[in-house]
Amino acid sequence: MGGRIKGQESQEPRAVKRRAATAAKKAAAKGAPPADPGGLKVSTESIVVDPPAKKKAPAAPAQQYHCANCLGSVTKSDSHCPTCEVRLGWEG
Ligand SMILES: [Zn+2]
Repeated sequence: MGGRIKGQESQEPRAVKRRAATAAKKAAAKGAPPADPGGLKVSTESIVVDPPAKKKAPAAPAQQYHCANCLGSVTKSDSHCPTCEVRLGWEG
């Protein structure tokens, strides 16, 4: 007859405590940062500042040209200068 079961620690308060601590450790390691607002705050600020800086530096307006006659702004899609209406020769 054996009434005692070795290995079943749920009955002992010490074991229960240990299990709770292990669970908390697991949760923290899973992706639940404890108390660390300092580093987190800096990281958030950095992210907020980044997007505008990226938007500020777009690709140079490669399709913007100047009319050879009036030096007005023209695009390659224009066959004639919108300012002086001179014909734009893109091919040569
Ligand atoms: Zn022009």
